[in-house]
Amino acid sequence: MQINVAQQLRAPIGSIRDYEVNQVIDVTGDGNGSLVQGKVRLMRTDRSILVKGVLDTEAELTCGRCLNPFSCPLTLNIEEEYFPATDVVTGAALPVPDEPGSFTIDEQHVLDLTEAIRQYVLLAIPMKPLCVEDCAGLCSYCGHNLNRGPCGCPSQGADPRWSELSKLNKEKGTK
Ligand SMILES: [Zn+2]
Ligand SMILES: [Zn+2]
Repeated sequence: MQINVAQQLRAPIGSIRDYEVNQVIDVTGDGNGSLVQGKVRLMRTDRSILVKGVLDTEAELTCGRCLNPFSCPLTLNIEEEYFPATDVVTGAALPVPDEPGSFTIDEQHVLDLTEAIRQYVLLAIPMKPLCVEDCAGLCSYCGHNLNRGPCGCPSQGADPRWSELSKLNKEKGTK
């Protein structure tokens, strides 16, 4: 997602440009494109272009309970500073801050949001994604996806976290 900011780099400090984002990007690097939509505001600072905005997208994830793939909606609150690699007026190379994760505007004065979006997506993905909040998961006996209805196993619907406990209790009872 590339934005040419040559004009804005020539503009006075504080000048603002709003940019509509509506593009398909491979946000997770798995070869699947996701639509990224929203608005970003670019502001010229004394040393950089500050990018701020809220973007909506989704990632193809695997549910942590039923193991089915699903689209997880993600909201990205972007705030990044992009440092120009060359002076837009003189063409001279500019020192780029040696901060990890800082972004640069290339020699053609192109600011590329793609890498930042990827990083924000990685941060936004939940540790244990669920296809729906109350996903019923898989039957711990036959592996049937209980979101599609009961499987007929005697223990169906039992929370697998309790089944270990009830097994222990049964073992205790027999001793
Ligand atoms: Zn699920
Ligand atoms: Zn079952």
